[in-house]
Amino acid sequence: MKLSAKIQAIAGSQTVAFTALIQQLRREGREIIDLAVGEPQFDTPTSVIDATKTALDAQKTRYSPVNGLSELRTQLAVQFNGCDIDNILITNGSKQALYMIFQVITDPADEVIIPVPFWVSFVEQVKLAGGKPVPVATKNHQLNCEAIERAVTQRTKAILINSPNNPSGAVYPLTDLKKIARLAADHNLFIVADEAYRAFVYDGSVHASMFDTACDRNRLIVTRSFSKSYSMTGFRIGYIAAPGQIIAALSKLQSHLSGNVCTFAQYGALAAQSLDGHLLSARQSELQQKRDLALQYVSTLFDCIQPQGAFYLFPDVSMVLKNDETSEALAERLLKQAGVAVVAGEAFGMAKHLRISFAVSEENLKNGLERIAEAL
Ligand code: GLU
Repeated sequence: MKLSAKIQAIAGSQTVAFTALIQQLRREGREIIDLAVGEPQFDTPTSVIDATKTALDAQKTRYSPVNGLSELRTQLAVQFNGCDIDNILITNGSKQALYMIFQVITDPADEVIIPVPFWVSFVEQVKLAGGKPVPVATKNHQLNCEAIERAVTQRTKAILINSPNNPSGAVYPLTDLKKIARLAADHNLFIVADEAYRAFVYDGSVHASMFDTACDRNRLIVTRSFSKSYSMTGFRIGYIAAPGQIIAALSKLQSHLSGNVCTFAQYGALAAQSLDGHLLSARQSELQQKRDLALQYVSTLFDCIQPQGAFYLFPDVSMVLKNDETSEALAERLLKQAGVAVVAGEAFGMAKHLRISFAVSEENLKNGLERIAEAL
């Protein structure tokens, strides 16, 4: 039996593949340090766990509205100036949010501009929607707005903006976001802004959202998530803020997809909403210390631009690649020889790089980086 051309044309996610691979290696008795998957090591807050248990005890175990619990949507709308409940959709993580967005805005052969490096799923999601991903190089991981403008064609439908960026950790300044907003208005494009890492920016800087620009709200679609901020990756709760018409279209799609997001998990997200800012600022400063520690180690081995946000280092590893070795081969060598999992840059559209997560315990971070240094 032949499978669809669509599914044959895409690759599986190389970031999630590591979770299964590492579990398998550990079952085989290998001691693996995981610096691959993007998942903060912090515990899920107790109040979130408690609220989820309470919801289960109260039989909040049935279908819930397609768009999400209205209490949760109302609270989330407050983050977005001028938005109300009709502008918010709760999704199964921001990954599914992004998948649905491309399904809703893209016709066959429509182009979506994606700055490089990019999170592994964007390109495949655009392809799954029948669209054409158009990768555009960055300058030292920052947006190259001129190159983005040059990449615009008659078929361009949207520009994807991911800040803080996974995998580079780049945080785009408001001035560049404003340029993108202008460009989108001039060429009648959507802006899809993935802001999953917005809680984690360092050195006292503040995350600038596409929502902070005077961007025409009719073309702006923003995704955010509880996964990274509150260590709720397994809850799968993300959300979209968008014009009501787009939310209605996304809701139509979600009604045929998952129907609703796990009901009791949404009560956990409601509890996360009432946590005060201390938790996030404590986590942010701990991650900043780890970033500094990791950067100090990694800079002795590779060239690495200091990330201003998210929780990855994305060094250029050209100088340690042997002969024709790719960074995929290097990542494999590190896994086999050093027992350390990292993700090869190819997954993010940038060869000769590795993505190293520093959102792990200090002990694992130090040991992992020492092992990498020894193996090299
Ligand atoms: N987004 C995280 C990462 O890049 C989690 C895995 C995934 O969904 O890609 O590692």
